[in-house]
Amino acid sequence: MTTSEIGLLGLGTMGAALALNIADHGFDIAVYNRTTAVTRDFKRDAGDLSDRITPTESLQDFVAAIAKPRAIILMVPAGDPVDQQIAALRPLLDDDDLIIDAGNANFHDTNRRAREAGDKPFLGIGVSGGEEGARFGPSIMGGGKKASWDRVAHILTAIAADHEGTPCATWMGEEGAGHFVKAVHNGIEYADMQMIAEVYGILRDGMGLDNAAIAAVFDRWNAGPLKSYLIEISARVAEAKDTDTGRPLLDIITDAAGQKGTGRWTAIEAQHLGAPVPAIEAAVAARNLSAARNLRKIGEEMYGAAPQPLDGALSEDQLEQALIAGKIICYAQGFQMISAASTQFGWKLPLPDIARVWREGCIIRSVMLDDMATALTQTPDENLMFAAKFADDLKANHTALRQVVAQAALHGLAVPALSSGLAYFDTMRTARGTANMLQGQRDYFGRHGFERLDRDGKDYHGPWAD
Ligand code: NDP
Repeated sequence: MTTSEIGLLGLGTMGAALALNIADHGFDIAVYNRTTAVTRDFKRDAGDLSDRITPTESLQDFVAAIAKPRAIILMVPAGDPVDQQIAALRPLLDDDDLIIDAGNANFHDTNRRAREAGDKPFLGIGVSGGEEGARFGPSIMGGGKKASWDRVAHILTAIAADHEGTPCATWMGEEGAGHFVKAVHNGIEYADMQMIAEVYGILRDGMGLDNAAIAAVFDRWNAGPLKSYLIEISARVAEAKDTDTGRPLLDIITDAAGQKGTGRWTAIEAQHLGAPVPAIEAAVAARNLSAARNLRKIGEEMYGAAPQPLDGALSEDQLEQALIAGKIICYAQGFQMISAASTQFGWKLPLPDIARVWREGCIIRSVMLDDMATALTQTPDENLMFAAKFADDLKANHTALRQVVAQAALHGLAVPALSSGLAYFDTMRTARGTANMLQGQRDYFGRHGFERLDRDGKDYHGPWAD
């Protein structure tokens, strides 16, 4: 049997696409899948790339088919399957063989697996871009020992998306750094998608636009500052027809969104880090609420339908501006969280590189990320809201965001992510906030003490202390 440069285990949606991508870039690859028929079908359907693919039907044959020191990519569901496959492979491997978990692992699991691996090489890499990205160029966020990354960097950068000559594959830091960055990417993705869905709701219920008109609005916006993959596919989704019935697809898709948990992990981790991401939290909550369809039906029967026509109260331009402001705010939150994690975990996460790696190949790719990479290069430790370029953009667009949130509230159009983004923006530009009241309350009922503006020291108490 000839030896392959790399192996890949798990020929599902992502694994199959990634294996073809690797073969397409001239690397011989050995593949293994739990269900053997899938491996056989994969080899049979690989067309011109078939010669570069070595199918195997046992882990022993799989391992034997890979050149030493081996590199093996796992592309199986996050969680137990990853631990199971590591446990099954390790006894068959040499100590210097590298295992790469390329699924959507929780970064805490990747930290643990890296520690359990000890001196044996292990990488956790986040791969973004869905099936198409995996096949034709994903965005890759690597974590683990730099030396391990360097061993496979030539393959990962070759198969990654390319932005004007720069590959979208970067080593982010030790242990779970890559999976952490991928989780925040997914959190931002949740918020970006939710804000677009909220604007879709305003166009549909507030302005009475049909699907074709909504698609045209998204297409127009995709030629401006909002140009991004998510706006582009929103237009395609809005104009799509059901192949069975010929009806507009959006009219027959159930209004309950699924999730695999990465947005939720991001929201929970942000709370642990004390670097809240309220727009992402709102987006996760919105998905959960979307699943409560029966309750929402009861609510509508009891209170009457919430959405009311806007009767010209908002323009499409205001919606575009609100989305621009909302998007900046949600990225500002995501990068602030990455910055906090970098400090907390000692990772030295490269914020400008993260913006660069997201410019192509991944779901949140957008023209705005180019400017974000520039801003983060100039002032890496600053909240993006305060970078000159984005401060200008927010000054130009936040009034529209306020109008959209206000009119949406007045007309019963729920916009949880946009309104939470606006509240974040206002909070972050209010030097004298309202937590003095919280401190007073805490001291009143719990003698928790407070600091004073007019004196040094801590642990002052109110008159109720006596
Ligand atoms: P699929 O469900 O399409 O494929 C799962 C693969 O894993 C199959 O090959 C399956 O083998 C194998 N598998 C499942 N359980 C086990 C197990 N216990 N032991 C060994 N093999 C197992 O998943 P995806 O390709 O969509 O996802 C793979 C990973 O990539 C996940 O972590 C996912 O979160 C992540 N990801 C997915 C994206 C997407 O858009 N789909 C995007 C980015 C990341 P079998 O044929 O035998 O069932």
